[in-house]
Amino acid sequence: MSRESTVRIGLLLPDVLGTYSDRGNAVVLAQRLLRRGIDAEVIMVTAGSRSPGRCDLYVIGGGEDAAQSFATDWLLQHRDLRVALQTTRILAVCAGLQVLGQWIEDGHGRRQPGLGILDVTTSPGQRRAVGEVLTRCVLPGVGLLTGFENHRGMTHLGPDAAPLAVVMHGVGNGSPDGSEGALTPTVVGTYLHGPVLARNPVLADHLLQGVIGRDLPALELPDQEDVRDMHLALATHHPLERLGPVRAALHRRRSS
Ligand code: GLN
Repeated sequence: MSRESTVRIGLLLPDVLGTYSDRGNAVVLAQRLLRRGIDAEVIMVTAGSRSPGRCDLYVIGGGEDAAQSFATDWLLQHRDLRVALQTTRILAVCAGLQVLGQWIEDGHGRRQPGLGILDVTTSPGQRRAVGEVLTRCVLPGVGLLTGFENHRGMTHLGPDAAPLAVVMHGVGNGSPDGSEGALTPTVVGTYLHGPVLARNPVLADHLLQGVIGRDLPALELPDQEDVRDMHLALATHHPLERLGPVRAALHRRRSS
């Protein structure tokens, strides 16, 4: 995309999917561009809206099983959008991640086809995964990710899928390999709510650099580090005032 044009961020079905303020991910992406002097707009693609035209980046959030099932069918029926999603960058959170996969199995063993963009499948786990999560992202320079998870579906990565991160605390995909989320050249999929990009702005910049096609200058915002520390403390069950040594230990594990 050219430097002058407005970056169009398509927020998919915010009226159907978007638990835990996942729509905030679109706001974070737009704001991190605007604060760097790059025009950006968030296009709401609601269930009643017409085709939004092509966006540069799509964001899809989490939701309850029934909402997720509706969203899956809706996306499968909207061919233009479905085709655009095959090649455009996407941030997909929780139900959004599952929807992009090959199929999602419900509690009765019925499988609903997904969009087939990711080589992942999802089946119900023994129990819900609920709580704070800490992972180590496989993307160079991204480091630790924190978030909140609440899902029954557990996601199996097929041979053509790679994880976004390795779980340090929490459940993530729920597979024995300790993987969290899924990653392709265009898709960042994760179970982390938060919104995940508000908690982990480095991940937001990774997505944006892919869209813009160049590195973005650093963006220092007040309180960003404090908020990050607070969530690290929550995820590792350490009081905030004793976080210093924990952070150092996590860092050693990260670089080992
Ligand atoms: N309904 C899905 C599950 O329970 C996704 C939940 C979510 O998006 N938070 O696995």
